[in-house]
Amino acid sequence: MHIMENTLHSEPALMWTINDFPAYGNLSGCVVKGYKACPICGDDTPSHRLKNGHKICYIGHRKWLPINHPYRRQRAAFNGKPEYGIPPEPLTGEEVLHMVENGDRVCWKKKSIFFDLEYWKYLPVRHALDVMHIEKNVCDSIIGTLLEIPGKNKDGIAARLDLLNMGVKTDLQPEYGERRTRLPPGPWNLSRAEKREVCNSFYGMKVPEGYSSNIKNLVSLQDSRLLGLKSHDCHTLMQQLLPVAIRSVLEKPARYMKVLKGYVQNRTRPEGCIAERYIAEEAGCTVSVVDQDLLNQAHLYVLENTEEVLPYIEQHMIHIKTAYPKFRKRTKWLQDKHNSTFIQWLRFKVQSELEEDNHSVSENLRWLAAGPNMAVPLYRSYLIKGIKFNIKAQDDVRTTQNSGVYLLAHTMQVASAKDKNPILSNMGFYGVIQEIWDLDYQKFTIPVFREYNDVIDDEVLGDVIIECEPFTRGMPNVDTFDELVGELGGQNIRGGCEDIWIE
Ligand SMILES: [Zn+2]
Repeated sequence: MHIMENTLHSEPALMWTINDFPAYGNLSGCVVKGYKACPICGDDTPSHRLKNGHKICYIGHRKWLPINHPYRRQRAAFNGKPEYGIPPEPLTGEEVLHMVENGDRVCWKKKSIFFDLEYWKYLPVRHALDVMHIEKNVCDSIIGTLLEIPGKNKDGIAARLDLLNMGVKTDLQPEYGERRTRLPPGPWNLSRAEKREVCNSFYGMKVPEGYSSNIKNLVSLQDSRLLGLKSHDCHTLMQQLLPVAIRSVLEKPARYMKVLKGYVQNRTRPEGCIAERYIAEEAGCTVSVVDQDLLNQAHLYVLENTEEVLPYIEQHMIHIKTAYPKFRKRTKWLQDKHNSTFIQWLRFKVQSELEEDNHSVSENLRWLAAGPNMAVPLYRSYLIKGIKFNIKAQDDVRTTQNSGVYLLAHTMQVASAKDKNPILSNMGFYGVIQEIWDLDYQKFTIPVFREYNDVIDDEVLGDVIIECEPFTRGMPNVDTFDELVGELGGQNIRGGCEDIWIE
């Protein structure tokens, strides 16, 4: 828009296009079919052809999740493999233009006409996908599979054989009889009664005016189906209504036990630990998103007290000294630099080691390096090895006192990169527990006490974060998630369902 001789001239500008995926291909000129169908991943699109379904599938989507998202390590629920990849950077318009004009066209079928617009190549986002459209396709497939609607059901012999090929849910493979084939009911299969129950839930739902179509009109109770869903109906179904309707018929796993199992710290004596930590929780646990700086401080403390991390600390120190030769003799400066950069450095370091074929990164280190969850369970009371620790606020309303602690904190001195026996020196602390945090590293938790010194004003002393006891040699070796929730990965056949027969 520009102003000229008191006249306002306005010119339209195309900012981006919004379409479904095939149209996205036509307008952007990129390939949206076949093995390299992802416009962002391009040549590196993770894809493979399903032997039995005869379709190309793309199971690389988990790399867009946050690095410590639990889905990344669930094997059985996906393709039998964990995902440690990081998402690729989208190409800029200028990069795309350079590729299509220089014949490097593996993922580009043509130069988009929009590049005729002078400014087009400078737009950071040029094409967008219509999410509602995609959501409707996904919704139709989920409803079609759950209610086994002919033509919409994604389950079947081919799907089961492809699962078998991937080595996941192998107990659901088809069983061939003389005339018919039996499909063992999977976790998504509902009995006739359950399908009716789901449809009844939809039928009985009342929603505010203008919220969605009247759901009642979409339900066919006779044959347990949903009919004529519009994209906006699908949106409300997916986001709000389906989770409610499906809840009553979902298998009820031993949720309670699962929660308790997560508490197991000492795996050699699981029962004892479950009981101990369970009792402690009765005193109250709240989950809170804590200050990032404090969380980093606690995380750094955990890292520095973990034996497996020690070689990385040495490496990092060498790295700093090499990068800043001028400061190599200034111990305090080096320590501060290490403290402020180690967490990030370790995360990338471990990440890149994981990408090597024969890496030796343990499961412990993998999740430790990824860092704790921002949402931290805070306890008022915590039992460790039979000793109860309370926060001060808990003690203030009681007649007993369990919040004062005296701790020997180990400080480590490392002589050289080959030094396997760093010198430990002990320092005594007296403190009062202010908060008890259970740092959540997804696969295990590590309790840390946040304290303040009760004798000297804590403003002067600052916060000291001390773990209850050095655990450098005592950290449990964690199992992979699939091993931990073995019942998910191992047994998939759903009970109480009619058999599925295919003629
Ligand atoms: Zn992609």
